[in-house]
Amino acid sequence: MNNEWHTQDPAVWQAVQAEASRQANVIELIASENIASQAVRAVQSSVLTNKYAVGYPGARIYPGNEAIDRIDEIARTRAQDLFGAEYANVFPHSGTQANQAVYAAFLQPGDRILAMSEHAGGHFTHGQAHNFSGQLYDAQFYGVDPTTERLDYAQIERQARAWHPRIIIAGASAYSQLIDWERFRAIADEVGAYLMVDMAHIAGLVAGQVLPSPVPVADVVTSTTHKTLRGPRGGMILAKRQYGAQIDQAVFPRSQSGTLEQIVAAKAIAYREAQQPEFRQYAEQVVQNAQLMARILHETPNVRVVTGGTVNHELTLDVRATGLTGAAAADRLYSVGIATNQELLPLETGRTMGGIRLGTPTITSRNFTPAAVSEVATLIGQVLNHPSDLEQLDQIRQAVQRLTAQFPVTR
Ligand SMILES: *Cc1c(COP(=O)(O)O)cnc(C)c1O
Repeated sequence: MNNEWHTQDPAVWQAVQAEASRQANVIELIASENIASQAVRAVQSSVLTNKYAVGYPGARIYPGNEAIDRIDEIARTRAQDLFGAEYANVFPHSGTQANQAVYAAFLQPGDRILAMSEHAGGHFTHGQAHNFSGQLYDAQFYGVDPTTERLDYAQIERQARAWHPRIIIAGASAYSQLIDWERFRAIADEVGAYLMVDMAHIAGLVAGQVLPSPVPVADVVTSTTHKTLRGPRGGMILAKRQYGAQIDQAVFPRSQSGTLEQIVAAKAIAYREAQQPEFRQYAEQVVQNAQLMARILHETPNVRVVTGGTVNHELTLDVRATGLTGAAAADRLYSVGIATNQELLPLETGRTMGGIRLGTPTITSRNFTPAAVSEVATLIGQVLNHPSDLEQLDQIRQAVQRLTAQFPVTR
């Protein structure tokens, strides 16, 4: 049965094969994606998916959770060790559910949130009106300085004093500069707010010790496990010990029932992988590759690197001077096999996005060399500046094919 399901359900099997081949043949620069290891992927299709595990180790609703208890304990302990956290909860099914549980643990409906605006790179689960977080809670947003495009802490402090939020959220999905966790801590302390950091995008860079960790500084830290951390698709929460009981309760029973044990086991495997020296080298290389791309694109005509560069795994390009919208730029790039996504620019207020976001986690997992990374950046510059030159686009498509063949997915 195990290896034969594809003959029983060819429709789904063929779609899975098509996706595998797409992943192999595309230069993946979507900053939130990565390639999980064989072990992380394999355990997700194990018998663990058959077991109902409701509650926490030692306090389950159904019998038969002895092995599951062990997996949960291993995952929780490894998460704590990896990030030096006093407490971890590895049950949230996604980054969004991790955030939902934290709000449930710390806020009452109607309580005030201060978070980074979507325009500046924040995430919509931080209080945007089209998300439960903006419907249940009362959110205000901080942006970035219009000239530096970086966080303006004096401005955030003024907003915090005026707004009196119960929780301040730091962390972003599209921000390529350092975030000063201590400065946020000082602002939160000054106004008597909790400090929550959502490190979904950068968790792998924190684990790899190439970025400062928010864990010792914040009251609570949420994350995904599938972005730079390179684990299974899922979420997690880290916190100071004193908040453990209220967060456990907010995850189960307040916002989730059964755990996804096959995913918890995959998280445990990913945490161990992230503790190896090779993962640290990986994290360093992710940043070096992003910086190399930023340097080349900085020199590219009609393209502007937002904030002038990057210190992490991602960069945003302002492409308006090419005459393209972000959507058209991402479309044109995808047509030659380079996957990116349109992105809001810090000062944009309308619906049209003038930017695209690029990230290096996946191509670094494929061991792209610096020469290959430079070539990718050069190809991007050519597409953006000659989006209608069909002959050149065809040459670029061939170059993309050469690169994906030269650096196959081997994980
Ligand atoms: C990706 C992301 C999330 C959401 O994670 P999902 O697993 O897709 O729910 C939350 N916060 C930030 C900052 C993110 O970048």
